[in-house]
Amino acid sequence: MKADIVTIFPDFFRGPLEYGITRRAQEMGLAEIRVHDLREFTRDRHRTVDDRPFGGGEGMVLKPEPLFECLEKMNLAARDERVARSTKQSVILLSAQGQRFTQKVGAELALLDRIVLVCGRYEGVDERVADFLADRELSIGDYVLSGGEIAAAVIVEAVMRLLPGAVGNEASTQQESFTVDVKLKGPGADSTCGSKGLLDYPHYTRPAEFRGMAVPEALMSGNHEEIRRWRRQRALEKTWRNRPDLLEGATLSEEDRTFLSGIRNEA
Ligand code: SAH
Repeated sequence: MKADIVTIFPDFFRGPLEYGITRRAQEMGLAEIRVHDLREFTRDRHRTVDDRPFGGGEGMVLKPEPLFECLEKMNLAARDERVARSTKQSVILLSAQGQRFTQKVGAELALLDRIVLVCGRYEGVDERVADFLADRELSIGDYVLSGGEIAAAVIVEAVMRLLPGAVGNEASTQQESFTVDVKLKGPGADSTCGSKGLLDYPHYTRPAEFRGMAVPEALMSGNHEEIRRWRRQRALEKTWRNRPDLLEGATLSEEDRTFLSGIRNEA
């Protein structure tokens, strides 16, 4: 997968994309990330990327011309094809007004060949970019950042770790929090977990006892059925406590429902 990031702060990405799985994915040739300096697409002496808003009001707005020119140099498929999803490319404008970026959207993006991430700054980006250049607007959450750079890094990291081969054990990315579509076959790890839309279950490692805090006994039992049940119940409990909204879309068994009504009654 190719990821192009368009920003007025190219140096910002020196750190975030050079560690862990994102670095590995690039070294393995699974991903190629290119950072484009928007100022290189300006034509004036001062390399101006922003201007005052029409209609008055606070702050500055990123101008359309450098963004259009930058993307025109990328040899992308036409916007119509991207909007129709008939090409495996997407141009994404990072925006607090965008659709929410979720694990599901990340999984969709991981199937593409190329994503372009346009980072806004100041009061935002001239709306013609959203209307005629980008094919979608994504927000990483309901809060306002000063720029799209951190949001772009979040999306790149979430997507790169879903590329086949990027994470050593592929099963692990299918059993995490928010993952609805579990594709694992056969018994083994699948029978013990699989988030199916819930938050992940708690993890423990050695030592079995640390400063008087013991690892839950069920995990030490060696009894696979007991471990599976314990993990599932903790995942249900945590989801119910921290993110009850996720229970609506989760795949729940009869056993899950009985357990949930038990803890609801206790509360
Ligand atoms: N005036 C805008 C905020 C502009 S913040 C508003 O009220 O909606 C400047 C830039 O930061 C935006 O253009 C966008 O690229 C980025 N940004 C801010 N919050 C974001 C979020 N939650 N998700 C993604 N990008 C965000």
